Amino acid sequence: MSKWHTPSDNCLICHGEQELVIGIRERGPWERQHNYSRVLFCAACDVGELRSFDYDDFVVFGEEDDVMVWSAILVTADVDRLRSAFACPTPLDHGCTCAQHVRADDTSVRVPKKRLPEYGPDRHSPAGRTTMSFRVIDGLVEFC
Ligand SMILES: [Zn+2]
Ligand SMILES: [Zn+2]
Repeated sequence: MSKWHTPSDNCLICHGEQELVIGIRERGPWERQHNYSRVLFCAACDVGELRSFDYDDFVVFGEEDDVMVWSAILVTADVDRLRSAFACPTPLDHGCTCAQHVRADDTSVRVPKKRLPEYGPDRHSPAGRTTMSFRVIDGLVEFC
């Protein structure tokens, strides 16, 4: 595994570039560690997703993969709803620590997601992904 692992946010279905809808949080990128969660949308496939990326070069070799990628589907109607419901003026700011961003981070972690194979012929296969949604509680978006 090369240092400074470069993640891809491309669509799992058509491999095209996706729009960043919400930058939920990000740590890094640093040389040996980088992780983030974001909501992405593919206009070509008309489907959204929550993508979590975790690169950790500190894991003990052979005990755990250094790269882990997770994804859950967010249907287009929910993506559209999310654009207006997300209660933060800077939704693309991964570093924002407002109440909405914190709530989105906390709840996105708990949502069931499919871990994508990182190596082998099925790398980043979209098969078997779960579908998630969100609700608005006390004016804040919570993923569910
Ligand atoms: Zn696509
Ligand atoms: Zn915010």
